[in-house]
Amino acid sequence: METKQFKAESKRLLDLMINSIYTHREIFLRELISNASDAIDKIYYKSLSDDNINFNKENFFIKVSIDKENRTIKISDTGIGMNKEELDNNLGVIAKSGSLQFKKENEIKDGYDIIGQFGVGFYSSFLIADKVTVITKAFGSNEAYKWESTGVEGYTIEPSTKDTVGTDIILHVKTNTDDENFDEYLNEYKIQSLIKKYSDFIRYPIKMDLTERKLKEGTESEYEDYIEEKVVNSMVPIWRKNKNELTQEDYSNFYKEKHYGFDTPLKHIHLSVDGTVSYNAILYIPENMPYDFYTKDYEKGLELYSNGVMIMNKCSDLLPDYFGFVKGIVDSEDLSLNISREILQHDRQLRFIAKNIKNKIKSELEKMLRNERENYEKFYKAFGRTLKFGVYDNFGAEKEVLEDLLMFYSSKEKKMVTLDEYVTRMAEDQKYIYYAVGESIDRIEKMPQTELLLDKGYEILYFTDDIDEFAIKMLMKYKEKEFKSVSSSDLGIENNDEENKVEENNEENKSLFDAMKDILSDKISSVKVSKKLKNHPVCLSNEGDLSIEMEKLLNSMPNNQGVKAEKVLEINTNHEVFISLKDAYENDKDKFNLYTNLLYNQALLIEGLSISDPVEFTNNICKLMK
Ligand code: ADP
Ligand code: MG
Repeated sequence: METKQFKAESKRLLDLMINSIYTHREIFLRELISNASDAIDKIYYKSLSDDNINFNKENFFIKVSIDKENRTIKISDTGIGMNKEELDNNLGVIAKSGSLQFKKENEIKDGYDIIGQFGVGFYSSFLIADKVTVITKAFGSNEAYKWESTGVEGYTIEPSTKDTVGTDIILHVKTNTDDENFDEYLNEYKIQSLIKKYSDFIRYPIKMDLTERKLKEGTESEYEDYIEEKVVNSMVPIWRKNKNELTQEDYSNFYKEKHYGFDTPLKHIHLSVDGTVSYNAILYIPENMPYDFYTKDYEKGLELYSNGVMIMNKCSDLLPDYFGFVKGIVDSEDLSLNISREILQHDRQLRFIAKNIKNKIKSELEKMLRNERENYEKFYKAFGRTLKFGVYDNFGAEKEVLEDLLMFYSSKEKKMVTLDEYVTRMAEDQKYIYYAVGESIDRIEKMPQTELLLDKGYEILYFTDDIDEFAIKMLMKYKEKEFKSVSSSDLGIENNDEENKVEENNEENKSLFDAMKDILSDKISSVKVSKKLKNHPVCLSNEGDLSIEMEKLLNSMPNNQGVKAEKVLEINTNHEVFISLKDAYENDKDKFNLYTNLLYNQALLIEGLSISDPVEFTNNICKLMK
């Protein structure tokens, strides 16, 4: 018999697990029972569509037995079992690439919840066992197999015998060490309490042989022990329980048991809805972003049960994309068991539930924003981007649902604020909600375009996420107030004296500006006197719907269309550089040409755009220095 090696990644993970901190060890039981329950689910589900399978509830259960003498715990189930190939495939590789990827991207830090991170199920056996034996017979097969492993060394598979379909997992418990007590896992009360703690809601009976005590027959004060097989779990699924009976810990244990995430959820929502469509649901808002959340590998969805029977692992129709981070389970007795995936989408009941859930999530988030600001900001940091995508998606169809959940960094408050907070604070003479777009808060703070607005004491929202401006363009208004970029050529600040002065100024310098425009030709659409610059000589602003930031983003995408924003070169006529420019215009055409190009390139650089000929630019500067 040959010993097979675990796949390389499994080996490393196994190593990590076996040596992980002891407080995690007890979760092995939760993992094995959950697998057993899954295996029974599979055969149960099959029986619903196959008349040949006689699903008699009595015959399906999980049994946990302890053998102190041989130091073993056995977890038996009457589930679907595994054939040889399945044994090899399912127990030979630990985690799918997902968790490995995660580990690569997030160098594991000290004190991290390693086990929780992986949820590697079956392999948690090795937390307490030095040898694991699996004896299994698959449904529909006459052969049984034995899988055995002592850990990182590898595993063996050989033919075996087993009377009934199902799986026995036998753990040989490690011996105590100086600082760790493994014997406790051979104690029936300990095991019983672990089942209660982690697996109480499992829908199949979990049986144990428990030691009871009774009066010895014929005596009045002598007692004797006897063994009785008892069901240890209550079998009521957590989502069917009364909220008042459940603790925070119950909810987070369930989250972990289900492997919904590597974190502790920020919030749970427990729904028991009675009405046209009745359903129970437990929904979670995770604290951290799953490592693959913003990739196409991420699959949103909720577990879907019909009257206690799982019909779908990830029902994506239950969640809009923008709430795709929500995890959890929905169980409804009003759903037909036989619905297929395609029909599901058109199922009236399901659509009703989905709408209900959407509204509930929205209102819970709003509540969190009002009452638990710190938690909300944590949430927003992880998932705000997906909300903004939601505003933009589908031509803004859902923008009303989401607008009150948005937050942006404020120039005034120096922290995240909501649009409502912004609008409530707006100055009386302020017409627009102003925003500035840039790579980082630091970069935006240095933008010359913000000078005038900040001077007037207006608040500016900083957009540092590339989706921000697209989302806001889709939103168009918030509470009747339109949005305006600080880079737009007209900031909409009314000041007649000032306007007139600028107009006069534009007239006065018309021929100079025309000459500049000639030199720069189609790189810009016009040259104008700036109304917003104070300390800087030039900046770019834009006219039309496409902003310079959007141009940058669109052109950075594959197969871009080479779109161009309409750029205006704004000149600060109060700056001393303007005097030199004017002088050159009147007396030295070459110099004027040089200055115009330099100013234009400066404006590009400030805007974070690249200049087309950096060598020429530096040569030009050298010319000036000579
Ligand atoms: P997961 O449960 O997340 O798939 P596990 O490591 O817990 O990961 O289990 C790996 C696979 O092994 C399961 O998906 C299942 O196919 C198989 N398996 C484990 N335990 C059992 C069992 N008791 N009966 C049948 N199959 C099992
Ligand atoms: Mg599992």
